[in-house]
Amino acid sequence: MRRSRHIQVLLPLRLKWEPLYSYSEDQLPSPLAIGDRVRVEFGGKEYVAVVTAVDADEEAGAVGYDRIKPIVGLAEGLDRVSKEETDLWRMVAEYYLCTPGEVYKAAYPAGKVEEEEVKARVMDRIQERIVRLDEKIAKARREDTRARYITLREELMRQATCPWPSPSSLRCGRVRPLGSGLAAIELSDSQSEAYSKIKEIFNKRKTALLRGVTGSGKTEIYLKLAAETLSGGKNVLFMVPEIALSRQLEERIRSHFPDELVVFHSGETLAKRAEAATFIKSRPYLALGTRSSIFLPHRNLGLVIVDEENDPSYKQDNPAPRYNGREAAIMLAGLHGSATILGSATPSLESLYNCSVGRFGLIELNTRYFQAEDSDVEIIDTIAERKKNGMVGSFSRKLIDKIRTCLEKGGQVALLRERRSYSPILQCEECGTIPKCDRCDAALSLHIKENGEGKLVCHYCGRVKRHIGTCPKCGGPLKPLGAGTQKIEEEAAELFPEARIARLDSDSARSRKLESEIIREFSDGKIDILVGTRMVAKGFDFSGLSLVAVIQSDSLLGQQDYRADERALALLEQFRGRCGRRAEKGMFVIQTSQPDHPVYQTLSGDLSDTEAMNKLLSERKLFGYPPYSRVINAVIRDRNTARVELMSRSLAETLGRSLGNEAKVIGPYSPAVDKVGGENIRIIRLLLPKNKLLKANKATLEEEICVFESGRKYSGHIALDVDPV
Ligand code: ADP
Ligand code: ZN
Repeated sequence: MRRSRHIQVLLPLRLKWEPLYSYSEDQLPSPLAIGDRVRVEFGGKEYVAVVTAVDADEEAGAVGYDRIKPIVGLAEGLDRVSKEETDLWRMVAEYYLCTPGEVYKAAYPAGKVEEEEVKARVMDRIQERIVRLDEKIAKARREDTRARYITLREELMRQATCPWPSPSSLRCGRVRPLGSGLAAIELSDSQSEAYSKIKEIFNKRKTALLRGVTGSGKTEIYLKLAAETLSGGKNVLFMVPEIALSRQLEERIRSHFPDELVVFHSGETLAKRAEAATFIKSRPYLALGTRSSIFLPHRNLGLVIVDEENDPSYKQDNPAPRYNGREAAIMLAGLHGSATILGSATPSLESLYNCSVGRFGLIELNTRYFQAEDSDVEIIDTIAERKKNGMVGSFSRKLIDKIRTCLEKGGQVALLRERRSYSPILQCEECGTIPKCDRCDAALSLHIKENGEGKLVCHYCGRVKRHIGTCPKCGGPLKPLGAGTQKIEEEAAELFPEARIARLDSDSARSRKLESEIIREFSDGKIDILVGTRMVAKGFDFSGLSLVAVIQSDSLLGQQDYRADERALALLEQFRGRCGRRAEKGMFVIQTSQPDHPVYQTLSGDLSDTEAMNKLLSERKLFGYPPYSRVINAVIRDRNTARVELMSRSLAETLGRSLGNEAKVIGPYSPAVDKVGGENIRIIRLLLPKNKLLKANKATLEEEICVFESGRKYSGHIALDVDPV
């Protein structure tokens, strides 16, 4: 009987400790190593766990050898997890107050494990066939039979050693001279200057923040940095907020790095995910992906790029880990000793603050590559216009004239309306009732189907009801309040009957294919007016676009959220950057009922970027908001309305008692939509000062929640969200 060994493992669960297991030496071909994956039973279920410690005999002795369960077995064929990966999970867990197990689960979703297993089984079968072929080759009498077996064997060997479909292009470790044979990257003078500054910042081992107006060539600079990194034998991670909106970028990267590019995002199928992992393990790579791409098994990273770094899509709200891809990318880069560059036309206040305290280095790029000037901004006051009879439905007569002039000159127009649907809200003309979703405390939106019938949709849970046109309470007629993208499209069609009009929102672009089609047609000039949600403001480069306009811009401005204005400004700047990208100057029109709002003043240049930033920062400082503090939300969800009230109040009191001297405890309060999918939601907001005690305070908070959950038997209702968006 061989000796029994003890290991410690990480389970894909919300578990704060790492359990011990045993295995006997003759159970496995070789002793287990850290990072190996094993099957274990825990709480009556089987999981694939990661070995985090070997030779844990002392710990096992402390628990009592006979109380330690043996492992079920090795998780056959699964790749070993690297130290960088587990280190990243621990860092993310510590920062975002969750468990490394929860991060492991996000990094290796169960389905992904299954996918790997399928791959492993296929490999096993190939191995078996090779062994059988070898026997046949040895026995074969005739030369041509033998040759046939050998060819077959070679083919199988190829499949077994390289599951990637094009093994001939495998070029592990090969170094390619910069720009060889591919589209070369020539930077302009101002770009070169920015480029050298970036390198200086990298040399100081700092994160670089590139603030550059849209069209200034940030992407061009990223590509140059990427080329340099790859030719130096290191790999690149290029992060974007959403893949769907980066199709043009993807093509641009492909034209430079056709062999290295691998695209990865959360919507990818399991097979694709496994492919991406195989790809980056076997060859030099540039991975283009959304936030979850930080959890790929990266190796030898030399550069991490975070494009549109201020975009809220980088944050994962639910489930845990509730991480921000930008911050996690910086952690990842740190672990690999890789350079990091963040870029945006409108960087987040957090990042600008990090520059001001010397943590990041700031580089500015203020000229556009094609020398186009900033588009003119015109703000139209819809209330004043309405009084003068200057409005036709959702359009002001001023805007109508501008669109007409633009179309007559052969230009294209994009209209942004930040609400999809025909009408975002309905109201009964008789009793004032607003139909709401039964499960969410949110108004139902009216959508018109292709056959002309109406349906009522809840944008929070997706529930659909038939629209019968009458009030559910009194039977009176329901009147649409406000116009969504569908209605704007309809109005535009009436106003400009000659124009070719299309709509781009998540209803019209249900699939990648439909979306690319709309974008391609617009890009080819086959569409004159494109109406859509913020999708029209992102990532596209259309040379014919000369007028962009926002309809009902008020819906972008802040109500509850201290960050709404910062975000509105970022979106508006981005949208503005869409037009007049070539030599010609574009026109940017905003229709709003609050023309004096500071966001518009900044946009029209009455406030400089720095002034605007300082203004926002001083407001944040006054109220103790980030970047001057760390915000953590405790989010309480419960189907029972009375209990959610009771528990959230009692938790707020508890936290006030334990952290009251160290932190500001706000709430509990109800969010704007306080019931989603049948669950009531309450939020307790904590503002923790950024001082020496921050870490200790975070730990206290976590501890208090734990005690509260077990003391009140209230597990599974409370989630902590660090740096919520
Ligand atoms: P940003 O990422 O800052 O919005 P881009 O890199 O997309 O800017 O550049 C805007 C446009 O200018 C693109 O069409 C791009 O191809 C072109 N461009 C920018 N820099 C260069 C350059 N150095 N050489 C050739 N074209 C460039
Ligand atoms: Zn709902």
